[in-house]
Amino acid sequence: CQIITATAALFLAVCGILLLVVPTEDVKEPPEFMYGIVLDAGSSHTAMFIYKWPADKQNGTGIVSQHSECHAKGGGISSHAGNRGGAARSLEECMEQAMQEIPKSRHKLTPLYLGATAGMRLLNISKPKDSDEVLKEVGDKLKTYPFSFKGATILSGQEEGAYGWVTVNYLLENYIKYGFVGQWLSPGRDTVGALDFGGASTQITFETKQTVENKDNLMKLRLYGRDYQIYTKSFLCYGRDQVLLRLLALLMKTQGSDRSIVHPCYPAGHSDSIKLSSVFDTPCDKRQTPYKPDDDLQIKGTGNYDQCLGNVSHLFSFNKCSYSKCSFDEVFQPNITGNFMAFSAFFYTHSFLQEASGISIMSPEHLEDATRVVCNMSFQEMTNKVQGQRSRLKDYCAVSAFVQVLLVNGYGFDYLSFPHISFQKKAGDTSVGWSLGYMLSLSNLLPAEDVLQRKSLCS
Ligand code: AMP
Repeated sequence: CQIITATAALFLAVCGILLLVVPTEDVKEPPEFMYGIVLDAGSSHTAMFIYKWPADKQNGTGIVSQHSECHAKGGGISSHAGNRGGAARSLEECMEQAMQEIPKSRHKLTPLYLGATAGMRLLNISKPKDSDEVLKEVGDKLKTYPFSFKGATILSGQEEGAYGWVTVNYLLENYIKYGFVGQWLSPGRDTVGALDFGGASTQITFETKQTVENKDNLMKLRLYGRDYQIYTKSFLCYGRDQVLLRLLALLMKTQGSDRSIVHPCYPAGHSDSIKLSSVFDTPCDKRQTPYKPDDDLQIKGTGNYDQCLGNVSHLFSFNKCSYSKCSFDEVFQPNITGNFMAFSAFFYTHSFLQEASGISIMSPEHLEDATRVVCNMSFQEMTNKVQGQRSRLKDYCAVSAFVQVLLVNGYGFDYLSFPHISFQKKAGDTSVGWSLGYMLSLSNLLPAEDVLQRKSLCS
């Protein structure tokens, strides 16, 4: 025992000397998170989302969450068409934020995606060369950062709809859930449909057991060992900003004037003017007869709900359908079923309507009542009721009437199904949109097979 004690003492002494002589270095802990970046290049602006997940886990749902977001100033990348360098510069501020927020040691491992949506789809129709140039320019810019750049692409309408649906159900943990007993379980819940209302297009996506009569609207996904059949449809030119322009073009046509119109959706007494080039510089409003792009159109509001609704309804076509049933514009749609999450401009419109009218909107009738109240308000009354957003106030009556026609007459929500729509922009701390679903799918963070099965096979 004495010999052992003496040997141990000698060993400790030698270690002590070694510790004094050999300079020690702090053991660097690897950062606990992995990161991914998605730039959502929308028609009205670009948003950057940084996602993170624990470095040692990735397969469960609810594991990936949003770390932060950044909203680029100025318009969307498509608005910089013909202005060389403009689109690339618009991304700089948000990319600098990503450089600061993501630990340096993770930069190279961080996938970076840019997905462009309907604004670029429209530019690709009207000026394909400009659209290619913008995409190339933003791609070249993003390659200059140390992240792992995975490409800058234009998403199809189907992809935008489907990735939005993937996001919603991932955030609600509808694919699999971590149970109390420490195992991944199928929560046995129905999935939730996704309603997205952007600046240039709107998407509806939901799981259906019915036959999808037009295969363009059908998507089959296998996630966590389960097959999903989803219906998805994106309506180009039915985004908020394009709808407002199409409405102006319609009023000009019906009133037969390029100079001045009365606008039943603008607040009574409110006047505005807009360059004709802004109204017609979109493939959504191809004007057949010549016009002077630099001329101003004078607009005078009359705040008339019924006339507003009548004009907005004319933006849709409800009279033809070559399938067993259609939403509008001859587009097949199965009956809506289950719960829905309505985000982006659906959320903004719903929340403004509730705040301005004081009506809690739980049914199509409530939506109509609140829209009527807002359409009858003067600009001053709106300003008194709702803080901020001065530049958007004049458009809420038109957009609300549009949402009403779209949801009720178009998609077919009624007093039974309407209460199953939840209007929200976030789930937990994560913004709802296509970008999370896009990153999860492209980075293989969404396994096709059941994680439980795979784990038991390995162990
Ligand atoms: P986004 O979801 O950012 O693509 O925006 C979709 C549409 O909503 C665009 O027409 C935006 O101009 C509009 N929008 C964005 N932010 C707001 C807001 N806070 N209130 C009302 N509309 C908004």
